Amino acid sequence: MNRVYNFSAGPSVLPEDVLKKAQEEMLVYGDSGMSVMEMSHRSKAFESIIQSAEESLRRVMGIPENYKVLFLQGGASSQFAMIPLNLMKKGKIDLVLTGMWSKKARAEAEKYGKVNVVASSEDKTFNYIPELDSSKFDPDADYFYICQNNTIYGTRFPALPETGSVPLVADLSSCILSEPIDVSKYGLIFAGAQKNMGPAGLTVVIIRDDLLGFSKDFTPTMFQYDIHVKANSMYNTPPTYSIYICKLVLEWIENKIGGLEKMSEINNKKAKILYDFLDSSEMFNATVDGSSRSIMNIPFVTGNTDLDAKFVSEAANAGFVNLKGHRSVGGMRASIYNAMPTEGVEKLVEFMKDFENNNK
Ligand SMILES: *Cc1c(COP(=O)(O)O)cnc(C)c1O
Repeated sequence: MNRVYNFSAGPSVLPEDVLKKAQEEMLVYGDSGMSVMEMSHRSKAFESIIQSAEESLRRVMGIPENYKVLFLQGGASSQFAMIPLNLMKKGKIDLVLTGMWSKKARAEAEKYGKVNVVASSEDKTFNYIPELDSSKFDPDADYFYICQNNTIYGTRFPALPETGSVPLVADLSSCILSEPIDVSKYGLIFAGAQKNMGPAGLTVVIIRDDLLGFSKDFTPTMFQYDIHVKANSMYNTPPTYSIYICKLVLEWIENKIGGLEKMSEINNKKAKILYDFLDSSEMFNATVDGSSRSIMNIPFVTGNTDLDAKFVSEAANAGFVNLKGHRSVGGMRASIYNAMPTEGVEKLVEFMKDFENNNK
């Protein structure tokens, strides 16, 4: 069977070059005589893998020296608890409610303190990023929380909130590495790897130095950032193989793509191909408008649930898989992460045009 075009929201498509390289190195990695999966995380070979992954991430994202990089487990969802357990001092935070993931983050944070929702887009099934009124920001909050790209609804913050001295904490699970960002604008960035960085099982956290050292007394050891910082992400066994694949993905971005400026150009082009078609089609419509549109996750509908289902099924038969929208919004969603080739989006649009003509 041939490889399909996989539009899954996550775990999602990986660069073919990366998979091939992993295949080459599957049985014997370098001069170790074994697979990366089989080696001790304390071995020289693995130490060089994790170090190289971190150095590459630092170069690619331009991470300043006063930020630590952690390779953790537990998924982005563990961060919903880990963040308040480590960053809450006074016990109050600001949060923008833009979907299911920020709602889950709010629920966890509320176990440890007060959450001030400064704006929400729940009134319209989260299909936009709300305007922010800075007079509603609490200048005394422990941190300001956003989910920068909303995987389920296909929205992303067009600009970062101006939070002054309040650290900005952001969930970048579905947009990390998709374009250059200014890391120094954030206090903490986290991302589950399975969208744009590698396989599931790895969660990357980038945290500014001065936010370390404030975990609550009762914070479980495994949930303390300091512990992982001191141990260079090796307090216990890290997700070794996922870190190795992440290293290959980063090398692919650096060497094959040529960095995040270039990555962003490609991603914007891909998204434009699909949005342009959606905006001109009489059958398909994007569910998000204007500057809130994500370039990673693009939801769309026909307005007729039977037709939606027919489309998803025929698309799958034609080799365009995982286009069904999230159960909470319905319709379709094309996740076009870094590893989705431009050709995949072009071919999807051709398929959609044909489908439209055949189902008028
Ligand atoms: C997928 C996703 C999550 C959840 O990630 P897990 O690793 O499954 O916990 C959280 N936030 C965003 C924005 C996501 O896309």
